[in-house]
Amino acid sequence: MMLIDELNLPEQVLKTLEEHGVKRLYPPQEAAVRNGVLNGKNAVLAAPTAAGKTLVAELCMIKKVLEGGRALYLVPLRAIANEKFQEFSKWCGLGVKVGVSTSDYDSVGYELEKFDILICTNEKADALMRHGSSLFSKVNVVVADEVHLLNEPSRGATLEVVLTKLKKLAPPPQILALSATIKNADEISGWINGVLIFSDWRPVPLKEGVFFGGVVEFNDGTFSIVEEHAGNAAVDLAADTVKNGGQALIFESTRRGSMAIASASSSVIAHLLTRQERRSLREIVAELIASGEKNKISERLALTIERGVAFHHAGLSAIQRRIVEHGFKENLIKVICATPTLAAGVNLPARRVIIRNYRRSEGGIRTPIPVFEYKQMAGRAGRPKYDVVGEAILVAKNGKEKSLLMKRYVKGEPERVESKLSSENALRCHVLSLVASSNEMTEEELLSFFSGSFYAHQQGGYVKILPAIKNVLKFLLDHGFIRVLNEALAASLLGKRVAEVYVDPLSAVKIVNGLKTMPLSEIGYLHLICTTPDMPRLYLTKKDYPFFHEFVENNKDIFMTEIPDYESDPVEYEWFLSEVKTAFLLKEWISEVEEDVIVDFLDVGAGDIYRLVEIAEWLTYAASEIAKTLGMTDETRFLRKMQERIKYGIKEELLGIVRLEGIGRVRARILFNAGIRSINDLKHTSLEKIASLPKIGLETARKIKDQVSSEEKKRELKAGGLNQVKLTEF
Ligand code: ADP
Repeated sequence: MMLIDELNLPEQVLKTLEEHGVKRLYPPQEAAVRNGVLNGKNAVLAAPTAAGKTLVAELCMIKKVLEGGRALYLVPLRAIANEKFQEFSKWCGLGVKVGVSTSDYDSVGYELEKFDILICTNEKADALMRHGSSLFSKVNVVVADEVHLLNEPSRGATLEVVLTKLKKLAPPPQILALSATIKNADEISGWINGVLIFSDWRPVPLKEGVFFGGVVEFNDGTFSIVEEHAGNAAVDLAADTVKNGGQALIFESTRRGSMAIASASSSVIAHLLTRQERRSLREIVAELIASGEKNKISERLALTIERGVAFHHAGLSAIQRRIVEHGFKENLIKVICATPTLAAGVNLPARRVIIRNYRRSEGGIRTPIPVFEYKQMAGRAGRPKYDVVGEAILVAKNGKEKSLLMKRYVKGEPERVESKLSSENALRCHVLSLVASSNEMTEEELLSFFSGSFYAHQQGGYVKILPAIKNVLKFLLDHGFIRVLNEALAASLLGKRVAEVYVDPLSAVKIVNGLKTMPLSEIGYLHLICTTPDMPRLYLTKKDYPFFHEFVENNKDIFMTEIPDYESDPVEYEWFLSEVKTAFLLKEWISEVEEDVIVDFLDVGAGDIYRLVEIAEWLTYAASEIAKTLGMTDETRFLRKMQERIKYGIKEELLGIVRLEGIGRVRARILFNAGIRSINDLKHTSLEKIASLPKIGLETARKIKDQVSSEEKKRELKAGGLNQVKLTEF
């Protein structure tokens, strides 16, 4: 094995590595170094999780940065961006400035230029490029983490467009793509003109197998007998792991399923805990309760955590997720029952991974999951430093299913990664952004961009997508987003703004129609936002149906779109109701209905509320910018206010005070009810009086007072104007 001293890296880099337990390279790392990645060579590193890919990327970035260069690290998810930020902070001691930027799509990003290593989501990088940010011309190494995301139907094309643009820069930056062990990684390395480092090596070896009839059969020919007690195979497998001192991750296809299996396992796991563990788990529960949520989900979570088990899905709030992840990393929570989103998210390994359902429901049909998805889940098995071996086990219902699972998944190969650029949805967004980023663009220039894409690399050219590109161009011309000028394409003012505010042109068409035809109304505008393809919709439960049916009957006049007939077109009608339910959630939110009430009434999680609120805030901002571009002053003002109300979840009357840090929807209401209704009121109220109000206290009151005085100064400098949208978070 290669020692780090042989790397020809500055002394302080080697010292930092040693401080983090890195003395010699793992085999895939050595292969990458021997193939010249530290000398600027482009490469695809395809290896399992924890095989050391990120560390190779870190070394390439640090080397360039210490030579005066700059690095861009692209990730698919915000949670991963934050995780990487923590990881890279080890280099701050060397004077390296690391930053994260994942939000605020409508910005040029001048403030990001100070970072040596910038971690961005793919979407944020795309948005910065649309604003012509000069950041990219200064970047000389780009890392694309989880590059297999190119295959993802809704988001793969964005990563592809970003990388295609980066490849075209002069001089081109070094590109390092990190990937799971996919079948056609060589096509990606061919595309980026780099070497392929492919490895199956793992720091903790992985055994994969199928469980049926009390026995796990592994791919290496070994067997393991598991006692059956609980009447549930996954619970038995998890209990077996915990009895032997390990931890388990159970993957379930639905949220409901993950919560049910958590309850079922918790009654078994509870008996395997030590007194000390039980005490520590009660402390975790106390922390959970102190975080303030009191709804069906938080109560169920508290019950299972007390017994050493948790569930983990997108409905959890960020605090709940953090508590669960931390409790698991501390080896107090012994079992997590999760939906597959965990497999693609933060790194949370366990000794044994149990996959209960290899099918998931898609549009009402149960379909088998792709092999790639199985391998991602299986790859979570084995905690480096704690486990000698990791185990991934699929649960079979009968002998026939056992053979099928063995063949398809355990011995199967992950699917090929295929470009998703050819979909018209993707093309519509990216063609507009390409045209809008230049003053004028001939069709040849547009097509030459596509000739550099991964799509063209895989398909031997872009000919096959020409008809789709033509369709999209027609759509953009018909709706006035682009026009033909001197035989070249040019974006209109509206088209340019739509590309910049980062919405699908189809969303923009709906918004423009709504603005032109609808009266100003809260629920009407919220519903309009919820009809756009950029807005996710809430799932409609059986219980919801009569409630929203009646709601629609009582509010017939406020909807922009025609209400589908529920008898002749039940599918369309249900879709419509799910849009209405989503709009209703937002309406409750800005009417200051308590979060826990929304969670229980609409059968959602706190995490869903935040996610929807964030997207709705962005779309409302986009709608206000569109209204502004169209010269619609009243609508712009209305939408701006609505955007702020969505951001904080408040009625209009609280807008005056909620902008201050430390004042959210709850405190703003307390202040308002105490007669403190504006910044001016805050200025004239004593510190003691503010501090004496419920849920405020001296520390927050001081913070508020400090801000009021600096706000005062700012206001003197810049009178009037609309509130600023929240800027990039770091
Ligand atoms: P990947 O990106 O492939 O998932 P990472 O680079 O994040 O893997 O490495 C996983 C863990 O192993 C990290 O905590 C990292 O610091 C550690 N690690 C990586 N390379 C080495 C090494 N050569 N020696 C010791 N620890 C290492």
